[in-house]
Amino acid sequence: MVKAEHYPAELIERTDVSASLVVFRFLAAEQPSFTAGQYATIGVMADGDVIERPYSIVSSPGEKLLEFFVELVPGGDLTPKLWELKLGSRILIRRRIVGQFTLAPIVKRHLMLATVTGVAPFVSILRTEQIKRQKRNVTDDRFLLIHGASQVADFGPYLRELEELSKAGWLTYVPTISRPWQEPDWKGETGRVEDIVRKHADKDGSGHTNSIAYACGHPRMVENVRNILVRSGFRTDQIKEEEYFKSYDSPPLIDHGRPSARRHNLPST
Ligand SMILES: Cc1cc2nc3c(=O)[nH]c(=O)nc-3n(C[C@H](O)[C@H](O)[C@H](O)COP(=O)(O)OP(=O)(O)OC[C@H]3O[C@@H](n4cnc5c(N)ncnc54)[C@H](O)[C@@H]3O)c2cc1C
Repeated sequence: MVKAEHYPAELIERTDVSASLVVFRFLAAEQPSFTAGQYATIGVMADGDVIERPYSIVSSPGEKLLEFFVELVPGGDLTPKLWELKLGSRILIRRRIVGQFTLAPIVKRHLMLATVTGVAPFVSILRTEQIKRQKRNVTDDRFLLIHGASQVADFGPYLRELEELSKAGWLTYVPTISRPWQEPDWKGETGRVEDIVRKHADKDGSGHTNSIAYACGHPRMVENVRNILVRSGFRTDQIKEEEYFKSYDSPPLIDHGRPSARRHNLPST
């Protein structure tokens, strides 16, 4: 039975970024109401019940299609079912879209840190910022986004989109890969988000006196970055966090910007 707290949405576009990363775009039966940075709870029917999980919304609130950037968790309850979706397939979306991972008002400098799909809320926020600027609703907010992945393909279509957005000058986008030896043509930054956050924040002038930090995605990156920023003077209430899962639940199934301790026999820091 479809519960009243959900409405259906139809899959309109699907981009398989890799075997384990997909961008889904849905047309919802109702125009969802949300603030950039929030997450929707989406699900599918299975054995008469809804299997559902939260996903940060990539699209900006005014967009017709609702976009998500999803990583496959083999053996997970929902993601293998999402992988079976074809164009025209239907999912369910919880009516209430929630979350506190939104742009902090008042502060004008925003230090954004993401692993792979953790870029989703930042894309929503930055698309929204771009729309504001196109409407000449000029703001003086500045954004530094560091986006970690193991390989270039994992950035998906957002690499190009964010590089384009950064040309206007109000966004500095720093994609960084943790397996540069697999990408001989890569000219960009290398290492994990936490390895390079201080260097780029200092270069950008984004410090504890003028900025708020946002960390989203892999829980280990979020924890490491919190420790680094606190050591550099940030108060914990200047750091907003969105962890996609609990690190004690399971080891990372794909490398989100750090060498796998098991595969490379390294200490798991
Ligand atoms: C606020 C919020 C927003 C989120 N937004 C996104 C998003 O935009 N894109 C996205 O892909 N995911 C996102 N997630 C994670 C998502 O909600 C699911 O947890 C994930 O897709 C796994 O669902 P599942 O049912 O397939 O696996 P489950 O059955 O829920 O999990 C199986 C096991 O895998 C662990 N696990 C879950 N995710 C991962 C992972 N990525 N790597 C390693 N182990 C994992 C779980 O902790 C559990 O032990 C978000 C989570 C939260 C809390």
